[in-house]
Amino acid sequence: MIFYHPKAQRDLQDFGIKIPLLSLRIEQVRLHLLQKFGPPCLTELTQTDQTLGREDLARVHTPEYVEKLFLSRTGLEQALLECYECLRPDGGPTVRYDPSQAKTSLLELFQDLLAEGYGTYKAIEHVLQKKAQKPDSFAWSFFLGGGMHHARPNGPGGFCLFHDIVVGLARVKETQRLSSAWVIDVDAHMGDGTAFFSKIFPWLKSLSIHMENGWPLGVPDQDGARPHIIPSTLDIPVSYQDSRKYLALLRAGLEQFKRQEILPDVAVVVLGADPFLGDVLQSTRHLQLTKAEMLARDQFLFNFFKELQIPVAYVMGGGYGPHIAPIYEQFLDFALLS
Ligand SMILES: [Zn+2]
Repeated sequence: MIFYHPKAQRDLQDFGIKIPLLSLRIEQVRLHLLQKFGPPCLTELTQTDQTLGREDLARVHTPEYVEKLFLSRTGLEQALLECYECLRPDGGPTVRYDPSQAKTSLLELFQDLLAEGYGTYKAIEHVLQKKAQKPDSFAWSFFLGGGMHHARPNGPGGFCLFHDIVVGLARVKETQRLSSAWVIDVDAHMGDGTAFFSKIFPWLKSLSIHMENGWPLGVPDQDGARPHIIPSTLDIPVSYQDSRKYLALLRAGLEQFKRQEILPDVAVVVLGADPFLGDVLQSTRHLQLTKAEMLARDQFLFNFFKELQIPVAYVMGGGYGPHIAPIYEQFLDFALLS
């Protein structure tokens, strides 16, 4: 089942945030799916109550942060500007934010993000329900959005205001049996927010395969360590020179993860398309996988979970520019025909 939420599509420039990140890819993939497989392959989340609320974020984020987002207009605006890296160290907005250019308010952006987070929750809930109904089958779902893997318990990070995946898992946990969950993150950037949460919640294990250099931002100390970074349960940093070994490294890492961790009730894959060489974001240049390598990665992951019959929910993660949609389309074509 593939989930689509119209509010997951946005142009940040409509909110006065001058970052050219159009979520065009969602519409492109949606149209591709409709054309190729017809409307039954998509579940559109269009009801106004299909959104997250304060209680959802409060399950995993700190009370201070949740209060800042929900109870104070200035607090929310500040958090959003920090999220999109539009705040100067003294607290004022940078030139990246120009409210006079905004078509709509930052409050509206928050509502859109909460609605997008609901899509992630739905994708997770769906596979667990499927598995409960048919224990011997393989359940997978894909949400056309989501993957806010840089958000931390007490604040935003790297364009992620809150952690939709941990929020979704914690909400599902209220009503369904969920004793363990894996987040498998193949986005080009390290899932540093997820790593934080996996230290807080013993039921959450995180694997991140990512660019060795370029992220998280910040200067390593003399020993090469970044003291403000918490490691994932398993990290697989890949250097630019090792781009061709990416799949072998992922395979070995996932095998190790399988041996060292208890198999989970559900896995969430952050299927970032930004390791692709056609990605236009400057900070992803440290990994350059070809289109064929991207498909091999995605097929390997899908088959890994299928073989183990672990329910898996996919979220999109990063992927920037006009050449990204075909990366998701080739995977979804494969998954839908499997
Ligand atoms: Zn990324």
